[in-house]
Amino acid sequence: MTPATDTIAAIATAPGAGGIGVLRISGPGARAIGAAFLDRNPRPRHAHYTALRDSEGALIDRAILLYFAGPYSFTGEDVVELQTHGAPVVLNMLLRRVCEMGARPARAGEFSERAFLNGKLDLAQAEAIADLIASQSEAAARAAMRSLEGAFSDRVNALLALLIELRVYIEAAIDFPEEEIDFLDTQELRDRLDAVRLTTSQLLTQTRRGVRLTDGLHVVITGRPNAGKSSLLNALAAQDRAIVTPIPGTTRDVLRESIELDGVILTLVDTAGLRESGDVVELEGIRRARRELERADVALLVTDQDHIAADLALLGPPQSGQTRLLICNKIDLSGELPAVAETPAGLRIDLSAKTHIGLDLLRTALRRLAAGGDSINGAFTARTRHVVALEQVAARLAAAELALVHRRAGELAAEELRHAQRALGELTGEFSSDDLLGAIFSSFCIGK
Ligand code: GDP
Ligand code: ZN
Repeated sequence: MTPATDTIAAIATAPGAGGIGVLRISGPGARAIGAAFLDRNPRPRHAHYTALRDSEGALIDRAILLYFAGPYSFTGEDVVELQTHGAPVVLNMLLRRVCEMGARPARAGEFSERAFLNGKLDLAQAEAIADLIASQSEAAARAAMRSLEGAFSDRVNALLALLIELRVYIEAAIDFPEEEIDFLDTQELRDRLDAVRLTTSQLLTQTRRGVRLTDGLHVVITGRPNAGKSSLLNALAAQDRAIVTPIPGTTRDVLRESIELDGVILTLVDTAGLRESGDVVELEGIRRARRELERADVALLVTDQDHIAADLALLGPPQSGQTRLLICNKIDLSGELPAVAETPAGLRIDLSAKTHIGLDLLRTALRRLAAGGDSINGAFTARTRHVVALEQVAARLAAAELALVHRRAGELAAEELRHAQRALGELTGEFSSDDLLGAIFSSFCIGK
């Protein structure tokens, strides 16, 4: 992608009527459009109150016109913003007028894309803008803001600096073959490699938390028919979303409910019961339940005192990285008290989905999991693509260590580090294909 030569325009405020609407124009023609409305050149960073007229001279609206001269603007280009009355009709007339004056309608995310191409933001920061706009909880909004301010990019760049130092060290050793073996066998080199690996794994942990903050924690409820899965979903969502019936096997499809727990979004998924079945429709439901379970961050196995072992056997071993909670439901029937206990198969919580006793214990456990075990203060938002890239970095570093420490193969280690550096560069956009950029920015909203 090369820097833009044309001028784009879009309505930046949300669709529908509002008190104020904003039309944004960016590119080399923006200033001339502003000047045509004002009958003189706009002054940078000055609020002009002006009439906005159509091509026949008829008044469209009276509005505030702001001009930001590049590079001191969001996109880095000349930008004009028109703050009008927030009527969709007015904004659309203005957009048409501005396009007659030489602009063209912007594609989704095109302003952010230009900001990225002009070096105003890196890719992770641009993604943080979209995450901020889409945030569904206060915690997610605050974390997105931290990413936008560079909290995530700074960490990536610090890791990149360590990685480059290590590469330089190893490549220098390779350049002096007579001393190579000694160079590659020093404690210092091992220490540096350890430091880079540790930094990577710490960043990976925080990035995974960041993804949970952005996307929410994916909680899948599973268990035998009639165990109380739908009742538990209802209890947590505190509304009648899933249908609760005493006939086994009625939750055939997958039901979802998002709830906010102290600023973190949980997506709860109620699935068909896990059991052998001859019914085709139900079999499909069970297949979907299995698929949902594979993607879960947390699996809630709803069971009871007498069926824990059998239900665990039916469920099989947990996915890697997945947390399993055992919910011993219906304690109101046996008169037991609500309780939490660590068991080898996961945290066990005794409660009643029907009477809600013990439900707060489950909420506390979910809140802890969503926060990644500690406070969400200081967290930043992240995306799955960031986790994937960092996992590649970690794998390359592991390979580099293997090459160095076990085989003293400097060339091989250096090659792995080059790959690791590339994967890191994709996070901030230093190395990114046009396809990747296109996919990222087209998911933004128009006007951003
Ligand atoms: P699912 O098939 O696992 O989704 O189970 P449901 O949520 O549909 O519940 C099955 C039956 O068990 C319903 O009659 C519920 O009212 C009942 N049930 C669910 N949870 C409890 C509970 O904690 N105590 C009692 N007494 N009954 C419950
Ligand atoms: Zn159900």
